[in-house]
Amino acid sequence: MPSPRPTSAEIDLQAFRFNLNQIKRLIGPERGILAVIKANAYGHGAVPVGHVLVQEGVEHLGVATVEEGTALRQGGLTAEITVLGGVFPDQHDQLIEHDLTPVLYNLNWAEALSKTVAAAGTRLPVHVKIDTGMGRVGFALEEAEQALTRIAELPALQLVGVLSHFADADLQDRTFTDWQLQRFVALEERIRKRGMAVPFWHLSNSAAVMKFPAAFFNMVRPGIMLYGYPPSESFPGKVPLKPVLSWRTRIIHLKEVPRGTPLSYGGTFVTRRRSRIATLPVGYADGYPRRLSNRAQVLVGGRRAPVVGTVTMDMILADVTDIDALAPGDVVTLIGRDGAETISAWDLARWSDTIAYEILCCIGARVPRHYVD
Ligand SMILES: *Cc1c(COP(=O)(O)O)cnc(C)c1O
Repeated sequence: MPSPRPTSAEIDLQAFRFNLNQIKRLIGPERGILAVIKANAYGHGAVPVGHVLVQEGVEHLGVATVEEGTALRQGGLTAEITVLGGVFPDQHDQLIEHDLTPVLYNLNWAEALSKTVAAAGTRLPVHVKIDTGMGRVGFALEEAEQALTRIAELPALQLVGVLSHFADADLQDRTFTDWQLQRFVALEERIRKRGMAVPFWHLSNSAAVMKFPAAFFNMVRPGIMLYGYPPSESFPGKVPLKPVLSWRTRIIHLKEVPRGTPLSYGGTFVTRRRSRIATLPVGYADGYPRRLSNRAQVLVGGRRAPVVGTVTMDMILADVTDIDALAPGDVVTLIGRDGAETISAWDLARWSDTIAYEILCCIGARVPRHYVD
């Protein structure tokens, strides 16, 4: 039997459940959770993660695109699935076919959707997005009341939720978040006074779940914290979280080279001593950022080893001169724990000038995911 690819990600479902329980503890039993599993559950595998969420009583799943929602249906998930990103009119049939809940922010498209749904002889639940300050999609606040009233009247659509999205709830300075929240609260009051009953109001991402109880309303929309990471590296850490994903590979080649040997493309690293160099079968095509060239560390035998030379498409090099008794086949940790040492997605993010979100969701399709429970 051929051996499987040595570069793989391990998904710890117990850690995942632990993080979900933190969310449940923070929000209490009365509120809904719309668990965000877009981008293949931030790289963790949307179908398996979706099934765990459903087993744990989560009734609403959020994805970014119609294609992601369709993949969940094909993976056997029957829970409500909300498509948080925009949906073009030529995808309306797919929404109906796969029973996906769109987020609306355009009246013409809402009217077109209602007609398509009516022609199919059915009804479709919808959420409506309000732009309270993110500036991406959503009805402007000034047009929100009218838009909500109009959409609530469309015969084939069932208005089940109103949402907005925070722009910088992860920052220490809460001025802008408070302003967005006030605008959303005021809208909710106006809509309630009109006698319109909308089942769900939601705008809390992970940052808000972790520090803005006033923004919970009756549903929250956490993403990154489910996967065990805070939304920013220095986020005040009152909520315990456990990273869910570990990323490992194995040494595929080990060699000794003399001092003065240039390594990898461009010779950006030249050995300054006789060195032992391990070649690892992972590269930027697996989502290991090229920005990590000469900047990252990996863990081998419980020790840290620097990544030397340019990250290539399929391989990287680590200087393991100071680590004894290694052999090809030995396990190397890219993200995760080895003995007393840990490398987190936030470490890789800092070394490559990005955020943990991007590190996690860019781990490529070429990397098999294994689930442990
Ligand atoms: C991605 C996303 C979330 C989740 O954000 P986190 O910071 O990962 O918690 C929530 N709502 C919307 C609309 C999103 O696009």
